[in-house]
Amino acid sequence: MRHFRYVKATDIKEAIAMMLSEPEAALLAGGTNLLDLMKYDVSTPTLVIDINGLPLREIRETPEGGLRIGALATNADVAYDERISARYPLLSSAILAGASGQLRNMATIGGNLLQRTRCSYFYDIQIPCNKRKPGSGCPAKTGLNRGHAILGASELCIATHPSDMCVALAAIDAVVIVEGLRGTRAVAFSDFHRLPGEIPQLDTNLLHDEIIVAIDLPPISAQIGHSYLKIRDRLSYAFALVSVAALVKVDDGVITRAALSVGGVAHKPWRDREAETLLVGANAERSVFGQFADRLLHTAVAEEHNGFKIELAHRTVVRCLEQAAAQTPQSQSDKRIR
Ligand SMILES: Cc1cc2nc3c(=O)[nH]c(=O)nc-3n(C[C@H](O)[C@H](O)[C@H](O)COP(=O)(O)OP(=O)(O)OC[C@H]3O[C@@H](n4cnc5c(N)ncnc54)[C@H](O)[C@@H]3O)c2cc1C
Ligand code: SF4
Repeated sequence: MRHFRYVKATDIKEAIAMMLSEPEAALLAGGTNLLDLMKYDVSTPTLVIDINGLPLREIRETPEGGLRIGALATNADVAYDERISARYPLLSSAILAGASGQLRNMATIGGNLLQRTRCSYFYDIQIPCNKRKPGSGCPAKTGLNRGHAILGASELCIATHPSDMCVALAAIDAVVIVEGLRGTRAVAFSDFHRLPGEIPQLDTNLLHDEIIVAIDLPPISAQIGHSYLKIRDRLSYAFALVSVAALVKVDDGVITRAALSVGGVAHKPWRDREAETLLVGANAERSVFGQFADRLLHTAVAEEHNGFKIELAHRTVVRCLEQAAAQTPQSQSDKRIR
């Protein structure tokens, strides 16, 4: 058994100072990922700083007309909040597509961003893994890689980011508010998570002494169509093989705004703003969605077992865009694909 100290932080600055004082310290929010990692000996913090006493649970209006979600709001608090489900149904839908009711009651919005990959080699400390121990190797590259990345991977790591919520936040253009020793900074969602590159052990650009304090959602037009379409091995309680979050506004049959991100395919939610320009101004029809999917996936590379994901991602993108454009989003209580 590994020993660690447990403390409950009473304010944000104190939590930051404690993180700074100990390189192996870790923050505890809902604990649904951190405790699993500790049980598997993947994460071995010497100090666990419980942040549940910090005033970071509130969801409130921003002066710009959006919403600010406190980092400790639970996934259930956010998914069922009336303002979120009315104005950001894409976010509610993505959260409800993930985990289970019990987990969503514990898991927090800040913790969801920082959950680690579900690559099974990462969770087995008997096996090398560049993300766990830099320089030790990537057995997934030549091993069982059915669930692994087809976009943005490197020779050192082909893991995917497992979150559903983050795929929606990427399409919404959310902003992550973090607080550290040097004050508060706002990080665009697309800059928060990293591709593996040469430093696969780093999942995000968050510094060790920084705490996520909130997520800001920009104002969003009420007429915009949305859909979160998640494809997985089981209809519930499974991580995505491919998931797509789409926001599409159609006026007189022409797309006037489009944002789309893909989960389950890369080390971070995958968004291609240049490809999105193909959609804006085009007719909202299947052939256009297909051309967009071709462009979005033109750099996709398959490993031995995950080649099916390229075609699956193509079809899921097209279907999700159809659902969003027609304002017939995927239902998370009835998951049949029509
Ligand atoms: C069986 C199972 C199934 C799941 N299925 C899904 C799924 O289908 N889809 C999905 O998206 N997720 C799924 N999850 C993951 C779940 O959503 C995450 O475990 C959860 O969101 C993490 O939140 P938490 O508050 O419990 O984080 P914790 O476990 O407390 O923390 C996770 C990490 O974030 C850090 N952290 C937490 N809060 C902050 C903060 N405010 N600032 C800085 N660092 C912080 C911690 O130090 C830790 O490193 C599943 C989890 C389990 C166990
Ligand atoms: S894909 Fe990444 S997390 Fe998985 S074994 Fe390779 S280095 Fe480790």
